[in-house]
Amino acid sequence: MNLSELQAAQIEQMKNKDCLPKDETEIILHLVEEVGEVCEAIREDDREELKDEIADVLWQLNKLCWINKLDLEEVFLHKLNKNKDR
Ligand SMILES: [Mg+2]
Repeated sequence: MNLSELQAAQIEQMKNKDCLPKDETEIILHLVEEVGEVCEAIREDDREELKDEIADVLWQLNKLCWINKLDLEEVFLHKLNKNKDR
C-alpha cells in the first residue's frame, strides 16, 4: 500500500466511524499531542509504544493533508525531489 492508498483507507475508516475532523485547529492540536507521545516513548525507551506513536503522527498528517485537499504521497515526493537538489 502506498501513502495515497493509506490516506484513502484512513479517511474511509474515519467516514465509516463518523469521526472526520471538524477543522484544521483540531488536527494540529492532535498532531502536537502525538509528537509529544513520540517523545515520551523515546524517553521511556519503549520501542513498541514508539511504533504506535509514529503511526499516530502519520495519522494526523494524513488528516491534515485530507482537510487541505492534498495528497500525502505527492506532497512527500515533491519535498524529496526538492531536497535532492539542495
Ligand atoms: Mg498516540
